[in-house]
Amino acid sequence: KHIDAGFNHDNSYADKLNGFYVPFIGDKAPNPQLVKLNTELARVIGLDIDNLDRKTIASILSGGTAINGAAPLAQAYAGHQFGGFSPQLGDGRALLLAEVIDINGLRRDVHLKGSGRTAFSRGGDGKAALGPVLREYLLGEAMHALNVPTTRALAVVITGEKVWREGRQTGAVLARVASSHLRVGTFEYYAAQAQPDKVKRLADYAIDRHYPELKASENRYLAFIRAVSERQATLIAKWMHIGFVHGVMNTDNMTISGETIDYGPCAFIDRYSPTAVFSSIDRQGRYAYANQSSIAQWNLARLAECLLPLIDPDNDKAVKLATQEIIDFKQRYEALWLSGMRMKLGLMTTQEDDLDLVTELHTTMEGQHVDFTLLFRNLSEVLLGNTNAARDLFDDPDSFDVWQSKWLKRIDSESVSNDDRVNAMNAVNPLYIPRNHKVEEALHAAELESNYEPFEKLIEVLAQPFTKREGLEEYAVPAPLDASPYKTFC
Ligand code: AMP
Ligand code: MG
Ligand code: MG
Repeated sequence: KHIDAGFNHDNSYADKLNGFYVPFIGDKAPNPQLVKLNTELARVIGLDIDNLDRKTIASILSGGTAINGAAPLAQAYAGHQFGGFSPQLGDGRALLLAEVIDINGLRRDVHLKGSGRTAFSRGGDGKAALGPVLREYLLGEAMHALNVPTTRALAVVITGEKVWREGRQTGAVLARVASSHLRVGTFEYYAAQAQPDKVKRLADYAIDRHYPELKASENRYLAFIRAVSERQATLIAKWMHIGFVHGVMNTDNMTISGETIDYGPCAFIDRYSPTAVFSSIDRQGRYAYANQSSIAQWNLARLAECLLPLIDPDNDKAVKLATQEIIDFKQRYEALWLSGMRMKLGLMTTQEDDLDLVTELHTTMEGQHVDFTLLFRNLSEVLLGNTNAARDLFDDPDSFDVWQSKWLKRIDSESVSNDDRVNAMNAVNPLYIPRNHKVEEALHAAELESNYEPFEKLIEVLAQPFTKREGLEEYAVPAPLDASPYKTFC
């Protein structure tokens, strides 16, 4: 028997891309329990939470229950992982549960992670453990509140079974919502199989879904590369502005929509370092903080390669056109990065030496154990008369003093009220980010003691990252200097 979830279904992936997926349903969880529901998002996507009881919601969002009108499926994709090509990845533990039109008329994928084995599981168990699921929930919602395009967490369901990772873990399913799950790797899957007709179908579908305005352009596939490149440039610049390290920027983890996806080994930097890496498997530092724009460009080149036959029948000409788009990514990204950095510094106008000023600040921060988030936040404190708020974060503040006086001089050249500037800065420089030690604390309490209070509290704090509130001091400070270096395992 099928359940009515309340969704307004529109199964475009299932209907238009036959052959690009395998129809699939999730495993029936032995004892599904809803431990977290994003009620605001649930309402937006039309999940009928007023009439469905928690047990039913848990059973729907863990995958084992058939939904009226849905066409659940596992998507095929490939991907370059750490630079090497894997021709077949796909949804090995994920499921497109439903494709819906939300209450705002936007098309959304409702996706599950950890719902069981699919045709793409290879050696994997198709399952997810509670810790990483809660982590993805926290990080994704934090990113959303920080105004970064991202997939969003809808729910966490514990399944009532154990999964084996490093030992026995509580099994869980994450339900998440995305504007789609089209990846660079989806294109690579068909390009690698020399199926240009399928690449074309996919590109037409992606344009229809995410970039309908391109249908009027002269060379729509070239324009498509440009459009994806623009969204990725915007995304990576935002990551850099808040100190986010994705950690596994494989091409299967890069979306066509420009949303952040796959919160595996990601983390926010605390002490500033361009080479910051948190993932235990990224031994070469390929996905280090400061490498992210170059990696995005490299990934876009892989997308462009897939589309060459569509751009021009003359391969040389296609290569030339596509290459230019990839080259342009760098400038596009740098311009976005610089304008965002100006906002972080409270600069309202554009001046020639701004890039030097921004670059010099980064150089000054290096090796100083400066907390990246607090430094930017505290610059507005400086403007409020707390002269030492930023310099006190440095081991050796002398070089920062030089920079600060340059910055204050630069600010004086603009006629903007101090209040307006402080407000503008505090609206882009967060005070509360998912501090690694706070995230771990919340996960441990949930995993080891079934205590979800720290997790709930952290979600509440991170929902308003820019608004200073009383009593939240512990969320605004980095781990003690002597804490062991943070490592992620996913
Ligand atoms: P990721 O590193 O999370 O981007 O995943 C890479 C690939 O591994 C994807 O095809 C996943 O579906 C697959 N995968 C990861 N974990 C599992 C698992 N436990 N069972 C089956 N497939 C998995
Ligand atoms: Mg992935
Ligand atoms: Mg992953």
